[in-house]
Amino acid sequence: MSLHKTKFLVFIIGFLLMFLVESLFQYRDSKLPRSKRVFFHSALALLNSILLKFTLAAPLIWFIANTSEKGWGLANLLNLTGLTHLLLTILVLDFFDYWWHRFSHQVPFLWRFHKVHHSDTQVDITTSLRFHPCEFILSHCQKFLWVILWGPSIEAFLIFEMGITIANQFHHANIRFPSRLDRILRWVIITPTYHAAHHTVDKETSDNTFATIFIWWDRLFGTYRDPDKIIKTEPLGIGSFETTVLSPINVLQQPFLKA
Ligand SMILES: [Zn+2]
Repeated sequence: MSLHKTKFLVFIIGFLLMFLVESLFQYRDSKLPRSKRVFFHSALALLNSILLKFTLAAPLIWFIANTSEKGWGLANLLNLTGLTHLLLTILVLDFFDYWWHRFSHQVPFLWRFHKVHHSDTQVDITTSLRFHPCEFILSHCQKFLWVILWGPSIEAFLIFEMGITIANQFHHANIRFPSRLDRILRWVIITPTYHAAHHTVDKETSDNTFATIFIWWDRLFGTYRDPDKIIKTEPLGIGSFETTVLSPINVLQQPFLKA
């Protein structure tokens, strides 16, 4: 099976698995019916995937292949191969992703789009699908820069993307997570409790806690915040929305409205 097909399968299995775990061990109460959330956010994800397929998906893969051939990027300069290349690619691209997420909060133009993701007042597995199409495309545009700087192989890049998918699905899931295990995992990866802190209305936690796979970037760059202080009923979202908007027009026009 090709890595592209494996990536799609990982996405589907990960989503269904987290949805099932949420059904069995739900943490925060659902304000909206889960079926409505699944339907709307899946439709948005489908729109984003189609858009990507007809714009940047093929050029990005072509660009990665060309970069490897020409020997551009630090990974090629260092002659990294095999497992070393793969592990360092996951680490370095996750580091780039941390900064992209941080800029998405700190640069007003990028925040216009990223706030659509944050406007969800109820965070669960379906929130991992809630991205404005412009943010989706912009985030793929800046990946060309990642490729020039690092020079990953296509295989390593696709495996990293699978890692991002699994991490996103896991840390958005609305699951009751044993606090002891949470604290242990939090030395390495982002947990649902930790990422819920990133979705609070309170800017002190939501304008920090940016990491996606490895938590080390937050600890290293001073954006780690202790999620144990966040109570279960802490309001989520961005404050200007009392409930999650599930209307296509409203969500699509949100970044272009006056703040
Ligand atoms: Zn964010």
